[in-house]
Amino acid sequence: VVPFRTLDDCRRILAAADGARSALVLGGGLLGLEAARGLATRGLATTVVHPREHLMERQLDPAAGAVLAGTLAGFGVTVQLGVSATGVATDANGVRLDLADGRSLHADLLVLSCGVRPDTALAQAAGLTVRRGVVVDDRLRTSDRSISAIGDCAEHDGVLTGLVAPAWAQAQVLADVLTGTDPLARYRPRPVVTRLKAAGIDLASMGDAAGGEPGEELTFADPARGTYARLRIRDERLIGAILLGDNPAVGTVIQLFDRGHPVPTDRRALLLGRALGAVGATPAASPALMPDAATVCQCNTVSKGALVRSWRSGARTVDAVVAATRAGTGCGGCRDAVSGIVAWLSQAESVEVTR
Ligand SMILES: Cc1cc2nc3c(=O)[nH]c(=O)nc-3n(C[C@H](O)[C@H](O)[C@H](O)COP(=O)(O)OP(=O)(O)OC[C@H]3O[C@@H](n4cnc5c(N)ncnc54)[C@H](O)[C@@H]3O)c2cc1C
Repeated sequence: VVPFRTLDDCRRILAAADGARSALVLGGGLLGLEAARGLATRGLATTVVHPREHLMERQLDPAAGAVLAGTLAGFGVTVQLGVSATGVATDANGVRLDLADGRSLHADLLVLSCGVRPDTALAQAAGLTVRRGVVVDDRLRTSDRSISAIGDCAEHDGVLTGLVAPAWAQAQVLADVLTGTDPLARYRPRPVVTRLKAAGIDLASMGDAAGGEPGEELTFADPARGTYARLRIRDERLIGAILLGDNPAVGTVIQLFDRGHPVPTDRRALLLGRALGAVGATPAASPALMPDAATVCQCNTVSKGALVRSWRSGARTVDAVVAATRAGTGCGGCRDAVSGIVAWLSQAESVEVTR
């Protein structure tokens, strides 16, 4: 029974998976599904147990969750939804997971990915205000003004973040306040873009994707092909989106969402991922066409412009650009895009030299 948290945990999971034939994953959130897909890739019959009625309920609506479950089934991952685990036991034959409906599931390995809770004991002992996390204000100050908190342990406006990008945003504000660079800096949470990093599954979810806020709604579902798209629009701007399955418009949708730009009149280009009418669905297909302000690394909020600037300042390899900008050092999902931009810059430079 291994939690999925640290690099050492990953090594333990790999060691346990070696020679195992079946695995259970407790938790059908982003990380649980990434773990499940990885285990299935290694040939293990994998079952995800999730207490909610659909997968990734923080990022997806029920229809998207159902399409995703179908896609996972195609990769050998089965899903048990709407049932909690009540107990775990291990013996020489492996692991037994008891469920609230009276059933028990058996496997060689159980991976725990059922949420994290900030370890607030130290803050509590120090007399700081603690709810689910260490409570901070817009300046990231705790209830003791000489103590600040950022990242996964901090609770701002009732929200625990649990992602790299908001932690960096908080770090920036705190640094500005502490150094006096900008004493008026305030942390304003931005809607996040999350992407599932599982081989063969393209999934991006952003903002108020599952609904809640009023707005224009567009959906397209083709479960047989593992495709689902939902756009939520208000005042001609995206307030949320889910794109599951191969959709070439994903880069465009993320850019429009990030930058708050108006969506095209013909929304089908975004929904279906085809170039219709005036707006091409893949303006980011070549780095040359990508606007400088386009965010390449979502985790560390690194734009194409920042990558180009680091190149011009002397970083000449992917590693040097990464070291200079931090792009690709979060989830790593943008490494190919960073490599593509570096290759494009090298090529552009060699053309210049030839001329
Ligand atoms: C498997 C996995 C995959 C993830 N993938 C992504 C992803 O793709 N994208 C994304 O944005 N986020 C991802 N996350 C979330 C991301 O890792 C966290 O949001 C981020 O690490 C939070 O940073 P942090 O500095 O607040 O906390 P942490 O990274 O948890 O760092 C806290 C540090 O404090 C140390 N510490 C704890 N207590 C004490 C103490 N008493 N004294 C001294 N040190 C102490 C800990 O050892 C740790 O090193 C993932 C998380 C996991 C577990």
